Amino acid sequence: MPELPEVETIRRQLEQKAVGEVINKIEILEPKMFIGDPKDVIGSRITGVGRAAKVLRIRLANGAALLAHFKLNGQFFWRAAGDNTPARFTRAIFYFESGARLLFNDSRKFGWIKAIADFKDDPGAAIEPFRPNFTLQNFSSILGKSRKPIKLLLMDQEKIGGIGNIYANESLFAARVSPFRPANSLDQKEVKKLFNSIVGVLKRAIDCRGSSGKDEWYRQLDGSPGCYQDHFLVYQRTGRECSVCGAKIVRQTQAGRGTFFCPQCQK
Ligand SMILES: [Zn+2]
Repeated sequence: MPELPEVETIRRQLEQKAVGEVINKIEILEPKMFIGDPKDVIGSRITGVGRAAKVLRIRLANGAALLAHFKLNGQFFWRAAGDNTPARFTRAIFYFESGARLLFNDSRKFGWIKAIADFKDDPGAAIEPFRPNFTLQNFSSILGKSRKPIKLLLMDQEKIGGIGNIYANESLFAARVSPFRPANSLDQKEVKKLFNSIVGVLKRAIDCRGSSGKDEWYRQLDGSPGCYQDHFLVYQRTGRECSVCGAKIVRQTQAGRGTFFCPQCQK
């Protein structure tokens, strides 16, 4: 599932391509994936592309916005004027005045696009890496109040926005913290190390323009994969040697998702 680094990559690339474009037409191929009235956005010019956690926010000159969530397998592909290359599993196509098109693809149909007539661009209540509210103090206070296993708390979008399975696993390894520890059992030093690990891992993943690991559908706007999968230290590395101590990486199911960790390094 695309997480903060993947959605941020698409945001940056879409901002480059789409700002200034006028939406001429929207072809909806899977009606259940498009919420709202397309008329609210047709004929208007794109003024900016924002993001709140994993949701893209395409703002329009008439005060409306298009929100997009990729969920498990969603993709945005940009096609310049005259480029008619088809894509698999296209569910909606945005046609722009310049002749360019934006394809929304999703093999499993969990993703969605929403048109909102009068959009208020507030960022939401959760703390989120790279936003001013992501402070060590706020992070520490959220962890201190929860007995949930730390990995599940990191992925709880109501509390902390943008982190999913890949980056929860990688950040916990970077901090040498076991994914199964109750969040409130971490001492101050561990909380600080985890806080810094999250920021460091997400930054490096954004530099890599995201992760396109095994079974991941994530692609950049031009269809090419990201490169952070080449830097995974635990995620999808079951049975491989830990880069720090040489022990074998273990995979265990936790709340239905794969948890990858080094049983030696992560305590
Ligand atoms: Zn290890």
